Amino acid sequence: MPMRIDIHVHTRRYSPCSTIDPEALIGTAIQAGLNGVVITEHEYQWSDPELDALREASGMPGFLLLAGFEYRTVRGDVLVYGLDASACEEFGPGMTPREATALAAARGGVCIAAHPTREGMDFDMAIGECPLAAIEVCSTNLRTWERRSAANLATALHLPAIAASDAHALTDLGRYATEFETFIDSMAGLHNALRNGKFQLPEFVVAEMEIS
Ligand SMILES: [Zn+2]
Ligand SMILES: [Zn+2]
Repeated sequence: MPMRIDIHVHTRRYSPCSTIDPEALIGTAIQAGLNGVVITEHEYQWSDPELDALREASGMPGFLLLAGFEYRTVRGDVLVYGLDASACEEFGPGMTPREATALAAARGGVCIAAHPTREGMDFDMAIGECPLAAIEVCSTNLRTWERRSAANLATALHLPAIAASDAHALTDLGRYATEFETFIDSMAGLHNALRNGKFQLPEFVVAEMEIS
């Protein structure tokens, strides 16, 4: 059984644009059929003690709850995974996509282009020169035609596609997700799977993208 993980989620603790109460996150994720959640706040990465405390408070110490972060470059947003929480502070404002992804790579992280074709937040052609592990092609923040052009972009760049909720409200959690072929129980495991392309879009996402 593949693991279904939502790897792009915001909570109100560190993302003022989100209404998600972190305390409700894990219970809702389980109800939504998720096997794991990665919190990706804007410009902030939850520390391991914070993640531990939330798991404990939720009464689910074994649930896969990880953290990366989302960085706003001067041209589009990137999701960063696999860094120490403190390394997030090195990502000051004003970096280009190439600078941000290069810094993440230098620190041992992997990057995904978030909603790369979202109107007003799209990347330019320089995205093709960035070290990226994947392209987000489906989320609650991508409209039908933006999903289609994101999928075309992934194909053109020979990069795998991921889907994630980009949830800012609990009802969006798990609305989209990615399936990982290998058992993942840590950021190291997720990082490895992302780097090696060991994931796929769930069938319901593929079906939804085909009919829309
Ligand atoms: Zn946001
Ligand atoms: Zn986001």
